[in-house]
Amino acid sequence: MSYDAVIVGAGITGLSIGFRAAKMGLEVLVLERDDPADGASAVAAGMLAPVTETTFGEEKLLRLNLAGAARWPSFAQELGEAANQPIDLLTSGTLHLATNRDQAAELERLYEYQVKLDLQVERLTAGACRELEPALHPSTRAGILARDDRAVEPRRVIRALGKALHAAGGTLRTGSSVRSIRTGDHPAVTLEDGTEVAAGTVVLAAGCWSGLIDGVPKPVAAALRPVKGQILRLRHRPDHPVLLTHVLRTEEVYLVPRANGEVVVGASVEEKGFDATATAGEVFELLRSAGEVIPGIRELQLAEVNVGLRPGSPDNAPLLGTAAPGLVVAAGHFRNGILLAPITGDGIAQLLASGEPPPELLPFGPGRFDR
Ligand SMILES: Cc1cc2nc3c(=O)[nH]c(=O)nc-3n(C[C@H](O)[C@H](O)[C@H](O)COP(=O)(O)OP(=O)(O)OC[C@H]3O[C@@H](n4cnc5c(N)ncnc54)[C@H](O)[C@@H]3O)c2cc1C
Repeated sequence: MSYDAVIVGAGITGLSIGFRAAKMGLEVLVLERDDPADGASAVAAGMLAPVTETTFGEEKLLRLNLAGAARWPSFAQELGEAANQPIDLLTSGTLHLATNRDQAAELERLYEYQVKLDLQVERLTAGACRELEPALHPSTRAGILARDDRAVEPRRVIRALGKALHAAGGTLRTGSSVRSIRTGDHPAVTLEDGTEVAAGTVVLAAGCWSGLIDGVPKPVAAALRPVKGQILRLRHRPDHPVLLTHVLRTEEVYLVPRANGEVVVGASVEEKGFDATATAGEVFELLRSAGEVIPGIRELQLAEVNVGLRPGSPDNAPLLGTAAPGLVVAAGHFRNGILLAPITGDGIAQLLASGEPPPELLPFGPGRFDR
């Protein structure tokens, strides 16, 4: 059997590409080792927050992130319609807070940098922060409001993408672990059970595991690594007052409210290889830091402790483009894979259909790590 595109990995990256490519009329097969909900994507907080995530020295990535964020409203709308399941965005904005003097000084530096970059941010006094979020800790000193930084529930998006892929004529096959990839004139993948599937192009979208598959070019494999993140879900009792309505974050922790009353608290950033163990220390630190933002969260039910492995890269930016004849890579989205799903899906589908990547992907070619 042969497909125009065989996509390895059904996280948000592989599914977004599959959905877009199938909509363009390509024959698409997405192969997933486990279940689409088993990678980093279903664990993620779902912040679509290029402004709040601004990091000194990462302006090139910031431009991609802003372009990615701009596509989310129409992507959510189109995906919701295709899957017959609305995708709601949290649009109240993100409030970046300082809860002590050091954090206030750091926040001021960040604000000046964001203004220099022309980002839409507002500096708020402690009183103004409390007007927006009455349950904030009394020690709150200042805040930056990024009105355009949104959030989404990634689990809903993944479920919708599975349905939308199917509706567009694509195929998702779970329980299909890819052992090796063949590039060159006759691209193909071989599954663990020995089945070979031929492809016009193979798309590698297996997150932090992408480098473990035989046949992946060495510089690509060497550029990808897992970065562990522990993250919690807290739940309100039905009669409990809503504690927060914006995404809140400090230098130590973030809190993301969900429409169903859950609050996501994240996340650790750990270099522990493929270890995916939840640890008491990190859970304790997350809860302690979250309690310094909203003391009332201590009353909530601890519903889930999750561990995800972010696909990291040397410059924290994704690898997007052709890596060898017949092989396209879409991996290494690190902290922004949910934010970048629409722009990755559009751009890689365009590359598959036309042979040319769109200009916005050019700075992120996988060849940038070749020696
Ligand atoms: C704690 C945490 C919080 C995060 N918060 C945010 C956030 O708020 N906003 C944001 O934008 N991003 C966030 N991220 C980052 C985001 O989750 C990732 O960048 C994104 O999910 C990467 O998606 P992916 O599809 O590339 O990889 P994954 O979701 O990891 O999917 C890869 C898939 O490939 C499959 N696979 C692996 N090997 C094979 C194989 N050999 N054959 C077949 N299939 C295979 C896996 O089973 C998996 O399903 C967060 C990550 C973590 C861990």
